[in-house]
Amino acid sequence: MTDPVIQATGLSKSFKATRALDGCDVQISTGRIVGLLGENGAGKTTLMRILAGLVRPTSGTVRVFGQPPGTSAVAGRIGVTIEGSAYYPWLSAHDNVAALHRGFGRALGPERIAAALGRVGLDQTGRRRAATLSQGQRQRLALAVAMAHEPDLLVLDEPANGLDPTGMADLRKLIVAERDRGATVLVSSHLLAELEEFCDTVVMMHRGKVVGTRDLDQAESSPRFLVEVQPGELAAAQEALEAAGVKADQAGEGSLLVEIDSGRAANQILVGAGIVPESVSPHHAGLEEYYFARLKEAGE
Ligand code: ATP
Repeated sequence: MTDPVIQATGLSKSFKATRALDGCDVQISTGRIVGLLGENGAGKTTLMRILAGLVRPTSGTVRVFGQPPGTSAVAGRIGVTIEGSAYYPWLSAHDNVAALHRGFGRALGPERIAAALGRVGLDQTGRRRAATLSQGQRQRLALAVAMAHEPDLLVLDEPANGLDPTGMADLRKLIVAERDRGATVLVSSHLLAELEEFCDTVVMMHRGKVVGTRDLDQAESSPRFLVEVQPGELAAAQEALEAAGVKADQAGEGSLLVEIDSGRAANQILVGAGIVPESVSPHHAGLEEYYFARLKEAGE
């Protein structure tokens, strides 16, 4: 087995009377998209700040690529967006990417910067002063900075905050593309449904501890998708899927639980029958139940 990218054991961090991390154990393998799930105040940002070398733990051990975080060997291999990521308001988006990387001793050429801005959809905005960017555009800028040097590990703290639906879809594609490039991606959210859409593993945090870890990419005996259609189209949608030999059960007003290999295939069948689904999303039986059971075990 390859060495884990991140290995934390008994990690604790106190801010005066607040115990933000309380004996947290995490192990993350290479080349995976790992979601860090937890309610507000669970300790996600604190863990990410430690991994990025921005704060030191009070106790416990942590290694990133086998090294203590914050060392130059780690800094060159990691890309980070932490809430309220820094930027220079008077510089353009393009010059921000250049300047923030120069701060780490990295000289990125204009093509590389343009490519990073293009990947986050800021190619048209790259020359505007960062102060004039919207919140979502600044979030995209932070992503461009984090990815521009093609790091081996991306640590993204609530990257979906402030993004519009197109931005969310772009973000998902970007994260998957980074994983497919070979990077390991750690991404936090307090929304299970958001992480479920693209993560390989979900690590669940509660009150500074890891309370559960679940792999989502293990082949399920029959993958299932939740398909939402207009309630008036439900019967026709079910009929079309069943006519194509696909098992489809009604799961609520306007929703079907469909046993099919991919969401795309479900979409194709429905569109072929003149029905455009409102949404098609993977359905992992029991993830939500598993999460709430872990919270209960942890004393909620
Ligand atoms: P959210 O989803 O709300 O961002 P989180 O899971 O990222 O939450 P953290 O930001 O890590 O949680 O905070 C964990 C706890 O530590 C909270 O109670 C928070 O108030 C506290 N905390 C975090 N940073 C500091 C700090 N610099 N000084 C004092 N307390 C802090």
